[in-house]
This record gives sequence, C-alpha cells and structure tokens, in this order.
Amino acid sequence: MADSLGNGEIASRLQSAYPAFVSGVEGNEVVFKDGSRLPLSDGRDKPFDAWLADPDIRDMFRFKYPRGAPALPPARDFDPGRARNAQFFSKIYGDCRKPGFGSSLTTITWLPSKAAQHIQISRLNGVAEHLSAVSRELDALPAKFDVFLVPAAGGYVCRPIAGTAQRSGHGYGIAIDVATRRSHYWRWASGGPGGGHYRNDIPMEIVDIFEKHGFIWGGRWYHYDTMHFEYRPELLPPQK
Ligand SMILES: [Zn+2]
Repeated sequence: MADSLGNGEIASRLQSAYPAFVSGVEGNEVVFKDGSRLPLSDGRDKPFDAWLADPDIRDMFRFKYPRGAPALPPARDFDPGRARNAQFFSKIYGDCRKPGFGSSLTTITWLPSKAAQHIQISRLNGVAEHLSAVSRELDALPAKFDVFLVPAAGGYVCRPIAGTAQRSGHGYGIAIDVATRRSHYWRWASGGPGGGHYRNDIPMEIVDIFEKHGFIWGGRWYHYDTMHFEYRPELLPPQK
C-alpha cells in the first residue's frame, strides 16, 4: 500500500502545490524560498499510529490519493492526506496558537445563492481563491444537492483532531466541512472503523468539484469523515 515517491517527484509536487514557499528538495531537506529548511524524512519506518501522530514530510505521500475513484470502503488504515507534518504546515500557513495568526485568514461568501454563509479560510497559498472557485461551481448545482452542502459546518477553527494531539486541517484554515445532515464520520459510527461500516451519501459530483480545485476528501479515508474537504494540492498533481 505504500507509495514510494522519489525525491524528484516530491520536490515537483511541493513546488507546484506551494509555489510561493517551496524552492525544492536538496538531499534529505525541503528548501524554502526564505532559505530555511525542514527534513524530508526522519529516517523512521513508522507503523500506522506513529505515521498519524508524528509524520515527516515524506510520510504525507505514503498513500496515493485516489482522485476521481468511486466512493468505496477504503482498505484498512488507508488514509491518504490524513497525516500532516506540523512544521511544514505551520511554515506555510502559520500556527493558530500564536498571536497574529488572524492576519492569515480571510472571509469568503460560501455558496452565494444557496447559502451566502461566511466562512473563514486561509488567504495564503491561494486557498481562498480555490475555495471560491469551488463555491461558484457548487452554487450552480441543482437544488437536489443542497441538503449535502447547506449549512456548511465551518472552515477555520483552531483545534486538534478529536482524540489526538495533531492539528486538524481546520487549524491551518485549509479545510471546510459541508453540511452535517447527510455526513458520516467514523467516530460517530458504532464500533468505529471495522465495527461501524463505511457509509457515504455525499454525491460524487460534489467530490469531483473539490478535487478539481486541489481539495482532498475525507470520504476516501478508512477513518472516514465524509463532510471534510481540505486543500492539499500536493496530493492532486496536475493530470497528464
Ligand atoms: Zn473537517
């Protein structure tokens, strides 16, 4: 299940996903445009729990994100994009526990005709522009989709992922939860993954629009969260 990308592929994914921030990979280091560096790999071969709790940058690419695939129950512990290297994301988007973080955020009008809801999201790395593009396309969908979208459950919020010490994508201002009414979340299912069965009602028309604009979907995870979308363009490289 491991997807071992070469350093060259990782470098080009990071450069095209974070063009104002990442200049490349040298040896075992990601080099940023301000001259700072972060390790690409910590050299540890991690079981699933350690992968999730303390991923290095290379670990974020462990699972190949199945863009465009039908929504089927994922294989055990197949969670593409669920691990985030905190140093990397804090470097790009800031640390929400620190003063001044608010200047990285902006407010967009989400689904202007369906909801006109104000959603706080990062203004960095093109996140707000990409989410606005998603919003325009979703807003044009027929009314039968509204139940899955309205009201959105929120964008930015500074909190760890439930049950972990890891910052959620919401803490960086790069994630949005669509409506809870028709959503499924592994922690809400009796028994959790393996006990509760994978369930999804979110139509693929919605998923396709998010993926087209660089957002991954939590409905593709074994630890599924079908209302969750997160801007992770490094996992959605341009299609050849
Ligand atoms: Zn979420």
